[in-house]
Amino acid sequence: MPTPSAPARAGDPWEMALRQFHGAADHLRLDPGVRELLSRPRREFTVHFPVEMDDGSVRTFTGYRIWHSPALGPTKGGLRYSPEVWINEVRALAMWMTWKCALHRLPYGGAKGGVACDPRALSRAELERLTRRYATEISPLIADGSDIPAPDVGTDAQVMAWFMDTCSMHRGYSVPAVVTGKPVSIGGSAGRAEATGRGVMIAAREAARDCGMRLAGSRVVVQGFGNVGSVAARLMHAEGCRIVGVSDVCGGIYNPRGLVPDAVARHVRETGGVAGFPGADRVSNADLLELPCEVLVPAAIEGQITKDNAPRISARVIVEGANGPTTPDADEILAARGILVVPDILANAGGVIVSYFEWVQDLQSFFWSEEEVNAHLARLLVHSYRGVAALARARRVSLRTGALIVAVERVADALRRRGLYP
Ligand code: GLU
Repeated sequence: MPTPSAPARAGDPWEMALRQFHGAADHLRLDPGVRELLSRPRREFTVHFPVEMDDGSVRTFTGYRIWHSPALGPTKGGLRYSPEVWINEVRALAMWMTWKCALHRLPYGGAKGGVACDPRALSRAELERLTRRYATEISPLIADGSDIPAPDVGTDAQVMAWFMDTCSMHRGYSVPAVVTGKPVSIGGSAGRAEATGRGVMIAAREAARDCGMRLAGSRVVVQGFGNVGSVAARLMHAEGCRIVGVSDVCGGIYNPRGLVPDAVARHVRETGGVAGFPGADRVSNADLLELPCEVLVPAAIEGQITKDNAPRISARVIVEGANGPTTPDADEILAARGILVVPDILANAGGVIVSYFEWVQDLQSFFWSEEEVNAHLARLLVHSYRGVAALARARRVSLRTGALIVAVERVADALRRRGLYP
């Protein structure tokens, strides 16, 4: 269970997402009708469903699947299992998926789903029953050509395997392309498990280059040591960075001489968390964000960098591994302080980009090597980064506003071209 050090989040994510969207819409002088349409999710599906627990009791869980916009194609976005899942969080995450897919020219709209539950407190059998029933409840929306889920906070390749199997049982034959982030043995893509963290490393490399800083030798702090943060830490360490602080839901560790991410990961496997790692000082999640470093990677949840701690952040560059870790108020403070923020929809898109590769491989039943996957990922991300950076410079806006301008414009253009039905 989370200790009091677990990161608290600030504000309402949906309000945050709307404020960011309206900022970009103002820059674009977006048509009021399009603005109104895009400021609401297209479809919101809420389900309350029963799950039998191991002790024979029955509990009712609440889940969601929300489509923000299907304008650019079938909707895409992860499934989150966390006690904090609520409708406005899922709405915000769905909207961010729309912009993320559009920014990288993936042929997808944006969606997100989640179940309010604590996956750490469920047995494996309970997790499987919950996943199969949730998949069944939201199945009217899900298909390889309509809406394709993937992992997010609290879910993993095994959960995706149960999800895929459930959809396949309903259909009567295997439909691997219905979900991405699966184990490689059942149609997952090489490189998918590492893709988000790899993308964060690539974004950090681009950002360092952009502000004339050497990534090798720079001090890095990573909040969140899950699938995104642990991989980002390992790959940035391999690039020559000094990983001075990392944290997870139970707290953080700090060693100014540097931590070896593989050794920390081993400690996590053995003890269940980063706390107590030998030779490191203990820090809270809040203090971790303010540690002296050049690169800060928030890779946990939304609302971590706020107007309260932004004045004390010491990093030169923030690379957002999480979705929505920086509030709009904090963004303004960081910009005024000259801190470069590489926004979530740019920095953490490695996951959905390789999800797209996985979907394409499944549909073609033709699989790529990990080298091919990584090369395509790097090419696509670097291209997107440089495009956004050039636009942001030209318009004198932040990378976040630049990225949103590109994405919102593409979605608005698709809506105009498709026209209104009827
Ligand atoms: N949950 C990830 C994200 O927030 C991946 C989504 C996907 O692969 O569809 O981008």
